Amino acid sequence: MKRALVTGASGGIGEAVCRRLSADGLHVIVHANSRLRQAQDLSAAITAEGGSAQAVAFDVTDRARAGTVLEELLAAGPIQVLVNNAGIHDDAVMPAMTPEQWSRVIDVSLNGFFNVTQPLLLPMMATRWGRVISISSVSALTGNRGQANYAAAKAGLHGATKSLAIELASRGVTVNAVAPGIIATDMIEGAFPKERIEQLVPMKRAGTPKEVADVVGFLASEAAAYVTGQIIAVNGGMA
Ligand code: NAP
Repeated sequence: MKRALVTGASGGIGEAVCRRLSADGLHVIVHANSRLRQAQDLSAAITAEGGSAQAVAFDVTDRARAGTVLEELLAAGPIQVLVNNAGIHDDAVMPAMTPEQWSRVIDVSLNGFFNVTQPLLLPMMATRWGRVISISSVSALTGNRGQANYAAAKAGLHGATKSLAIELASRGVTVNAVAPGIIATDMIEGAFPKERIEQLVPMKRAGTPKEVADVVGFLASEAAAYVTGQIIAVNGGMA
C-alpha cells in the first residue's frame, strides 16, 4: 500500500484530500500543527470506514522537528505521495504590513514546503514513483489586495514546483501545484459575503474542499503519470 502525507489536514481542504486519497487506496498520514486532536479524529474515522491512516503533528516551520518526525515516518518505508497543504494567511496592505506578517506567511507556506519535501525526496526517488502536490492559490496567479505576503509565498511554490518537476522527471516522480480560488473552509469563513463571491467568481459560488481534493486525487493517481510541472487552477472561472 502506497503511503501519502497530507500536511495541514486538520483544516478543511486537507481533510477532503485525506478522504479522497484513502478512497483511492492509500495509507494516509494525517498531519496537523496545533489541532492534533482533529487529525486523530480524522485518522480514526478513515480507519473506521475501512481505510488505513495515522495522525502526526509538527510545525512545518521547525526544520529540526519536522526532520525528526519525517525520519521516524520514513523508518516504516518511503512516502510516495506528498501533499503540501499547510498554509496560513495574515492579510494587510503592504504599506501597513509588519515584517512579522511578511515573514510568518512565507515561513509556513514556502519554507514549510522545503522543510517537509526535501527529506522525503531521496527515498521517493529510489522507488521510481512519486507525487509531490502543493496547494497554492489563485492569489499567486492574479495578485490580491492585502496579500502580497501570501501571493509571494504561493508564487514561490509555483517556481519551486516547476524546477523540482524538471529535476525529478526522469525518476517517475511528478511535481504539480493546485491553485484553488475561494473554497468554503474555516480559512475564508466570514471573509467573503455572498454578494462578493458573486462578483468575483464567474460560477457565482465558492468551491468545495472536495472539488480541490478530486484534482489532487487525479494528480496523485497513475492516470496523471505524464502531468508534471503544472499549476492547475480550481476556481470556478476566476481570471
Ligand atoms: P485551514 O482550514 O485554515 O487549514 C490550514 C491548515 O494548515 C491547518 O491544518 C493548520 O494546522 C495547518 N498549519 C497552519 N500553520 C501551520 C504550521 N506552522 N505548521 C504546520 N501546519 C500548519 O485552511 P484551508 O482552507 O483548508 O487551506 C488549506 C490550504 O489551501 C492552505 O495552504 C491555503 O493557503 C490554501 N488555499 C485555501 C483557499 C480557501 O479558500 N480556503 C484558497 C486558496 C488556497 P492546525 O490547525 O493544526 O494548526
